[in-house]
Amino acid sequence: MLQQTRVDTVMPYFERFLARFPTPLALAEAPEDQVLAAWSGLGYYRRARMLHAGARVVADRAEMPRDREGLLELPGVGRYTAGAIASIAFEEPVGLVDGNVARVFARIFALEDDMRRAGMKRAEALAEELVPAKKPGDWNQALMELGATICTPRAPACERCPVASSCRARAEGRVDELPVMGEKAKPKPQRVQALVARTKDGRVLLARRQSSGLFAGLWEPPSIDGDESAGDELFGRFALASRALAGRVTHVLSHRRLTVDVHAAVLSKRPAGSALPAAYEALDLFDEAALDGLGISKLARKILAAAREAAASPGPLFDPKMPRARETGRRARARQS
Ligand code: SF4
Repeated sequence: MLQQTRVDTVMPYFERFLARFPTPLALAEAPEDQVLAAWSGLGYYRRARMLHAGARVVADRAEMPRDREGLLELPGVGRYTAGAIASIAFEEPVGLVDGNVARVFARIFALEDDMRRAGMKRAEALAEELVPAKKPGDWNQALMELGATICTPRAPACERCPVASSCRARAEGRVDELPVMGEKAKPKPQRVQALVARTKDGRVLLARRQSSGLFAGLWEPPSIDGDESAGDELFGRFALASRALAGRVTHVLSHRRLTVDVHAAVLSKRPAGSALPAAYEALDLFDEAALDGLGISKLARKILAAAREAAASPGPLFDPKMPRARETGRRARARQS
């Protein structure tokens, strides 16, 4: 849970998750829908699916691997996670490098390589070389903590640093220059058309994504990539008499910046599963009250909120050429205030 997510955000999720799935066996036996629902709101759902798959392997073997090599065989466990579990839980003297440790090493050893590329390999080699045989878990946690609390990206507290006397970056007055970080690829813009279709009694149509790819296994209003004309295909599949543009939401993923046109429509009957585009494997109608128990992405929640907001304040139809007119979300509210 902590990968890409802050500790204070994770805490309540962690506690709820452990209460719901207290053992690897409990997690292994749970249906994927329930695991995704317990993860809902944390994002990066691939982690939940991998954790679930890993629990199933552990349950099948009736044994948790106790060293890095064995841990690396579990689904979703990479070098960093394997090193953390092996050293902290089982005292195996193996190193690990996360962003914090990479920064600490780059400064202490004045590493010149790009830490997004070759520099990371150099840091990993140093981590292996330096980790002590005694209390390797404490060592690794101390390094991560040093990077998180003292040797921070901006304004590191060198005057309080316990390794200041060994730090080359400090001695050479180059703390602000290190680590060297190459350009990150910018997220690519992508248009999406989403359909929030409700029955007359208020149930909403959701579709579940296939088990691999973006938002795998999650429920969402059926969507299709592309501009309005691409959306016609989706709406044609559901044979809708009419639809109204209800708003627009934006959502940034690591590689993509999504701009989603949200369309509202009324369903006269339950559509057949064959209406779904290839990205989905199932569809169903849900009461609003049931949505909390489902694995739903943050983007899907934004789309549903935009449709709800539009329904609550009927007015002139949203004009896609004037995105600010009914743009929803925090940014729109900030602009309006
Ligand atoms: S002296 Fe400063 S730059 Fe060097 S490791 Fe400590 S906090 Fe980081």
